[in-house]
Amino acid sequence: MSTKRLLGIFAHPDDEGTMSGALLQYSTSGVETGLVCATRGEVGEIADPALATPENLGEVREGEMRGAADVLGVRNLWFLGYRDSGMAGTADNEDPRAFAQASAAEVVGKLVGIIRQFRPQVMVTFDESGAYGHPDHIAIYRYTTSAFYAAADAVQYPEHGPAHMVSKLYYSAFPRSFVREMSEWLKSQNYEGSFKDLDPEKLGIPDEQISIRLDVERWQETKARSWAMHRTQLNSNIIMTQLPEEVQRRWRRYEYYQLAASRVGQDVEGENNLFARV
Ligand SMILES: [Zn+2]
Repeated sequence: MSTKRLLGIFAHPDDEGTMSGALLQYSTSGVETGLVCATRGEVGEIADPALATPENLGEVREGEMRGAADVLGVRNLWFLGYRDSGMAGTADNEDPRAFAQASAAEVVGKLVGIIRQFRPQVMVTFDESGAYGHPDHIAIYRYTTSAFYAAADAVQYPEHGPAHMVSKLYYSAFPRSFVREMSEWLKSQNYEGSFKDLDPEKLGIPDEQISIRLDVERWQETKARSWAMHRTQLNSNIIMTQLPEEVQRRWRRYEYYQLAASRVGQDVEGENNLFARV
């Protein structure tokens, strides 16, 4: 096993797209990478009925996730086994197997077990907005943040192995200026798609809270190839794929990360390295 390890913790297969450039960049430079999926995305959409049924969608999406992980060079993949909660207010939220219904102590315990086994120095999850407010995204943000601290505390979850201190926790996030740029461009084009509600005052975080802007230009094709493995979900990205190629490339060129917690000090401006000082 490599001495450096990066762990992404998310809610659904395809959420890893938010850090796929980082996974590629670091695994190529010898970092061992891992991903945790709280659910199998059981209530996501089905782009083509030939691909899956509502009954077997979780199983199909697990396969898609394994395919995407292969493209990204991720050899360590864990499913926590909860059920996708769907959007807030839907019946799927009330399903007793739903991630939204899970006991916090149990979820954090499972994450602590994975962290103590894999021993990452750097972890990434969603920011507190959950990218666009999906309840499972917000839940995984909360549980991952708790697990960062709990994993380092030998008194908590002793049954899950010896304590491990993760050096840094990052949230994947969008700077507000980027959301504003997208919003203004769409407005200038009189764009009528579902991006028209893109509200730069509500989406994203203040630019000064972004500590890392990772240039993933060289990974654009591989990122797209890993995304394409999520065949049942291709419609969920359709608005983006209808935009001019040049605009898509520009908007996908950077991944942004907010340093949420660190045991090795602050990031230095312009450094743009998740593993700095690790
Ligand atoms: Zn998701």
